Amino acid sequence: MKIAILSDVHGNLEALTAVLEDLEGRSVDRICFLGDAVGYGADPESCIETLARSAFRSVAGNHDLAAAADRQALGRFHEDAAASIRWTRDALTSKAKERLRQLPMEWRGEGVHLVHGSPCRPDRWEYVLSAKDAERGFGASESRVIFVGHSHVPAAYVEVERKRLFTGVMRRIEAADPAFLRLDPRYRYLLNVGSVGQPRDGDPRAAYAIFEPEAGGYTLLRVAYDVERAAGKIRRAGLPEALAQRLETGN
Ligand code: ZN
Repeated sequence: MKIAILSDVHGNLEALTAVLEDLEGRSVDRICFLGDAVGYGADPESCIETLARSAFRSVAGNHDLAAAADRQALGRFHEDAAASIRWTRDALTSKAKERLRQLPMEWRGEGVHLVHGSPCRPDRWEYVLSAKDAERGFGASESRVIFVGHSHVPAAYVEVERKRLFTGVMRRIEAADPAFLRLDPRYRYLLNVGSVGQPRDGDPRAAYAIFEPEAGGYTLLRVAYDVERAAGKIRRAGLPEALAQRLETGN
């Protein structure tokens, strides 16, 4: 089995299309999506439709649910994010919004756990940015491999030890380099696959991962796409300039 894991497309159809083209020669069995189909980018509707056609499983992201809920207050969002959500609400058809509302907060099956933020209270949209955050995430899941997005930065955490003590469970978590990872069957993993449509790790290319559960394979891939075209659409839509620049720098 070969599974492609995509996250944080954010209305960037050029990046999503480039990733799906890259997948064509790789004989992947299915695609899973970790949320945030929309927000920031200028093609929210086409990204929702494309993902609905191609993904085997999808979970909700914070931008998805905010864009689908016309009356939800946006106080928790950064100014540019809030502006893009308001724009996205106007741009989306009611059918697309209904699709977003139908997304589950998380999905568990076949040894994997898919969630946008952290498995620890998915509805709070917490970030997993440290071994400490990952420890709480492992504590909230029984799955062997937990996939998350949300931060737009690839990361890997490994649960190398778990002991039951009288006082609770002791876990030893180590951060690993997500670019060079083999999955050891003795350990559990929490993996951030980075972002297709708005990378923030300094590399503007789209990021996604291929996971091979039986072979223990995990490959983080980067795909160049037409950044200028995606950024140009953001500018022409009147969305905040910073959102276009972000695509160009990958930050
Ligand atoms: Zn996101």
